Amino acid sequence: MGEFKNTMEVFKLLEKTNCRKCNKPTCLAFAAAVFQGQIALSECPFIGEDILEEYGSKKLEYASTFEQDYIKVMHQLKDRIKQIDLESRAEKLGGKFSNGRLILKIFGKDFGIDKNGGISTDIHVNSWIAPPVLNFVLSSKGIPLTGSWVPFRELETSKDWARFFEHQCVGAFKQVADTNPSFFKDIIKLFNGRPVQNHYDADISLMIYPLPLLPMLICYNHAEDGLESDLNLFFDNTADKNLPIENIYTLSTGLANMFKKLAKTHG
Ligand code: SF4
Repeated sequence: MGEFKNTMEVFKLLEKTNCRKCNKPTCLAFAAAVFQGQIALSECPFIGEDILEEYGSKKLEYASTFEQDYIKVMHQLKDRIKQIDLESRAEKLGGKFSNGRLILKIFGKDFGIDKNGGISTDIHVNSWIAPPVLNFVLSSKGIPLTGSWVPFRELETSKDWARFFEHQCVGAFKQVADTNPSFFKDIIKLFNGRPVQNHYDADISLMIYPLPLLPMLICYNHAEDGLESDLNLFFDNTADKNLPIENIYTLSTGLANMFKKLAKTHG
């Protein structure tokens, strides 16, 4: 039986008409619910028998699958880390090598990576951070930043991910910023981000560094004069040379969801 690796794989099978017959507002929401095991694929009346036969008509056992997949992915990444020379990668990655560990600044904090792929740091290492960090160590081309900012959809390899990104990441950031713009700024500071000068004439321009060669620029405009607020997120145009696009997606959406959680706690 086929297995879904992410929401997009479910989404690709759908009609994409957003007809709501599955009681979800959009096909994308339905795909996310299927991937998270909340609903069965067969709840969409337009899914053919052949697809149901291949992927099953029952809800996925998401939690255990997710954990197992995470453990498997981390094992594979750690095995690959064991085969490389961390010291020789340090400079290229914008980090340093000290006491047998590669030290990288992740959201402004020191993360140490040892020769076995173990990660040590003062803060909790979330599942949306660890694989991108190890993938960065393994596959970043170490291309210096150009200072040319582009939205996610204009990164060369973003085609399959762009639509999800708008919904899952930009939409989530905007929701937090719309609810409380000054709290949004405070959360950015919590992740060692900082305000930057007036990019694109935005009311709020903030820079955050998930990884040394992966800055993220967030520009927000308040609603005014009958115009809706808007939020745009930009990356250096080298971003997907320094980190695979799926990891950029994982890091950004993980961060956006963390913001949402913090905003909820804050009330
Ligand atoms: S019923 Fe199917 S096509 Fe209609 S919104 Fe739901 S997933 Fe999309």
